[in-house]
Amino acid sequence: MATFKAVRGTRDLLPPETALWSHVEETARRIFARYNFGEVRTPIFEDTSLFARGVGEETDIVSKELFRWQDRSRAASERDTSLTLRPENTAGVVRAYIEHQLGESGQLQKLFYMGPQFRRERPQKGRYRQFYQIGAEVIGPPHAGSESPLRDAEVLEMLATLLDELGIQGWRLEINSVGSAADRARYNETLRAALEPVVGQMCEDCQRRAVTNPLRVLDCKVPEDQPIIDTLPKIADSLDDESKFHFAAVLAALDAAGVAYTRNHRLVRGLDYYTRTTFEFTHGGLGAQNALLGGGRYDGLSEAIGGPRAPGIGFAMGEDRLVLTLQSLDPNSAPAQRVQAYIAPLGDARNPDALNRVNAGALALARELRRAGLSIELGDGSFRLKKSFEAADKAAARIVILGEDELQSGILTVKTFATGVQTKVPRSELIQFLEQ
Ligand code: AMP
Repeated sequence: MATFKAVRGTRDLLPPETALWSHVEETARRIFARYNFGEVRTPIFEDTSLFARGVGEETDIVSKELFRWQDRSRAASERDTSLTLRPENTAGVVRAYIEHQLGESGQLQKLFYMGPQFRRERPQKGRYRQFYQIGAEVIGPPHAGSESPLRDAEVLEMLATLLDELGIQGWRLEINSVGSAADRARYNETLRAALEPVVGQMCEDCQRRAVTNPLRVLDCKVPEDQPIIDTLPKIADSLDDESKFHFAAVLAALDAAGVAYTRNHRLVRGLDYYTRTTFEFTHGGLGAQNALLGGGRYDGLSEAIGGPRAPGIGFAMGEDRLVLTLQSLDPNSAPAQRVQAYIAPLGDARNPDALNRVNAGALALARELRRAGLSIELGDGSFRLKKSFEAADKAAARIVILGEDELQSGILTVKTFATGVQTKVPRSELIQFLEQ
């Protein structure tokens, strides 16, 4: 029979690599706590229309990459029968913010999340169909200060701290402002006009975008289109005074905090909900898919999905890519883990009663040691001594031998692999001995 494999674009994460994933998640949790963020967990699937309206019909994510299906069993009273695996988490968080009326508290909501996201993209290194994001959102009513440029700068400063704390050296922050919705509309018209005489020479995607969403032409990666894109007007010249002032304040706060950045006029990002500040952190170790994380301000998102005015700013980090970067910086970043001791019950396969006695005794000993906080691997009394030693040497710092004699005398034989020394240890002193 043909065997099963993980579906293309999805993958299994296994030890020891998963230790690195846990390390990334624990570090992120620690930093989020330091900045007073609380965790939010939203469902993995939502109404399709949440993403269509929240992320934007014209984005690649919604137009091409959604994993969606019809659920006809849904009650007629529910919104629609089309459901979708979340391709990102901001729309879900803002939906939860609206549904639970979090804005009523009058306080800024500072929420972080971690979890899988799903996009039907062409799989390659660093790009998967199920991938993992760690993200955060700062959102609230305007009177809570949610529009303040200080919030943008604080989020960026937090990200710089998080990447530093993870040991990701050499990251680069690229930043831009896409202005208010009105600025963007104006810029889109300017771009449309500027594209008209040249778009015939550009790629098919650009020809389509020039009509539907000219801003997205700036995202084009086709080499032949680049010289044309370089001549297009810059969005910075379409910003109104308020947007310019806001952006200048974000940059000034970053300067004051000593967070280095590069301005990138073409950074408009793929999601429609962004306004004003947009940013990306990149890393050279990642190759073609070099974005570690992306984010920005989304002052109109809540209203776009039927909520109250609730400006916000957030980001999503690609956890897969953080792990890839850590591995590229240090190939030994997730060494196989060793327990403190391996308990080897020593039985005789021909004497089932005796075998059961040493196995049972070994479990009782393992329980005692583990409850004292030690990490223990437990062998099996049917193994020959040589096999136990080989298994222990791979998994543990020490081996504890437990045969019928040891069970009765309470004196155990312990070998420390690093030194090769074998010691007799009374059971009452074992915990202390193994802790050294
Ligand atoms: P986005 O939600 O598109 O702004 O992406 C935010 C971050 O998520 C990116 O910078 C990547 O690090 C990561 N990311 C997005 N799509 C994928 C994917 N298909 N596979 C792996 N990581 C991804």
